[in-house]
Amino acid sequence: MGNELKRTKLGEWLFNSVNKVSLYIAYHKVLFYILSYTWGLITTLFGWIVYLFLRIFFKNKIQLKGKFFTARYIMLFDEWGGLELGTNFILAGNMGKYFTEHTKCHELGHTYQNAALGPFAIIFIFIPSVIQYWIQRLRKDQSKNKPYDLIWFEGSATYIGETLLSNLEHKDYHYYNEQYQFNNNYGANIWI
Ligand SMILES: [Zn+2]
Repeated sequence: MGNELKRTKLGEWLFNSVNKVSLYIAYHKVLFYILSYTWGLITTLFGWIVYLFLRIFFKNKIQLKGKFFTARYIMLFDEWGGLELGTNFILAGNMGKYFTEHTKCHELGHTYQNAALGPFAIIFIFIPSVIQYWIQRLRKDQSKNKPYDLIWFEGSATYIGETLLSNLEHKDYHYYNEQYQFNNNYGANIWI
């Protein structure tokens, strides 16, 4: 199962480095906003446009909206996961308490990766992330899917968010990360 799968050395290095930088930014809010609105601006702006579009035109479909750390989020449609929108994110409804918590952490993590890597986040994180999501989702043989968070940038997003929530609530939320890492279908059949 999942435990024989490992990241490459480069993947592990990127995972650790991006976590470190992103968490530093998360704990320095002024820096976070400066970076998000300068070199992270493309994603931030695009994110606001999509966010406001959904707030206005999908008003009746929104199940919940709120704030999670620095991010505004809306809950929309059921059982599909989540999507980071610059400094904000959207997430699916009806995923169960734990997976909802997990997805919130994960998408929050991507917002700090955006501040940390700016335009490079688009090329090395967001586009590959969308590709992996759809490959896993559309694959006929779901057992062939590797753990979603095995790839460094997805694992990193989860780690960043879960570390922040763990520190805030003095409770270890990394448990969810580990649990999903060892589930081959993690990220594929989230409605199960
Ligand atoms: Zn992701």
